[in-house]
Amino acid sequence: MKIGLVTYAPEKVEGFDLHVYYSKWADGSVFPAAKNMQNDITCFCDAKTIREDPSLVAVSKNGLALRKNRKINVPFDYVCPTNPEYRARVLEYVKELDRANIQGVTLNLYHFPDEEFCVCPRCVELWRQSGLNWTDWRAQTITDFLKEAKSLVNGTFAVEMFPDPVIAKERFGIDFESIAPLVEYFHVPLSSRDYFTNYWVDLLTRDFLKILKKPVVVELSAEMLTAEKADALLKTVAYLSRHDLMGVLLLVHDSENAKQVCRFAVNNSAFREWLKKFEFTEMTRIVDEWAKGS
Ligand SMILES: [Zn+2]
Repeated sequence: MKIGLVTYAPEKVEGFDLHVYYSKWADGSVFPAAKNMQNDITCFCDAKTIREDPSLVAVSKNGLALRKNRKINVPFDYVCPTNPEYRARVLEYVKELDRANIQGVTLNLYHFPDEEFCVCPRCVELWRQSGLNWTDWRAQTITDFLKEAKSLVNGTFAVEMFPDPVIAKERFGIDFESIAPLVEYFHVPLSSRDYFTNYWVDLLTRDFLKILKKPVVVELSAEMLTAEKADALLKTVAYLSRHDLMGVLLLVHDSENAKQVCRFAVNNSAFREWLKKFEFTEMTRIVDEWAKGS
């Protein structure tokens, strides 16, 4: 199993095999390419752009796809995925990153906000013209966008997803079957403030490994560490290392945050004994590698 980082700083860290850099954020911030790294692009969540042009937001009978709309429960502000100018802007950015010397592109939040979106006049018209049912039209719209993006990427192409293995197609237009041939792997974010309770991480990982027809990496949050949180996080990674994953990614602020995780694991003899006692061979190997570099 590979171990990797998802980071807000364009820095690689020794002891990690996969390096994902957040180059475009849900708040609308956009950064230059991080060379030799996988660049992660937030597609249709863009709070800044929506503030500048409110007409871009996705629409439903319960109102707009904005965090402040309490009739719905969305974590970000969503642009309508069929807006041609905004789509072109995102694709232009993908092209620009691909021209830099990057490892590849991961797309994130490239889907509809939820089942009842989007009923703006353009989406309703496109749906009618398609002759498809609502679910299939929305899934086709998203898959077509991913196909177009993939055609612009020479390196590794991957996607994140809202981590729902069962009704992602109905809710978001994410059709895992039709996306699988486009990607080299799926990136499943299982973000949390802590992993003191972790059965759901194991549960969702097993479900995704069963349904996704490409390799899977799982992302866990490591940005807000206390000793207790680090211990729970590292034990959760250890349990994941028993599954047939391509890798586990740790979300960190920067390289110092990543080194903090390594140091905690390396210097924690109780944790290392726990790994040996219960025969977590893959995780033991990873921590031994970290120990060499420290
Ligand atoms: Zn729309």
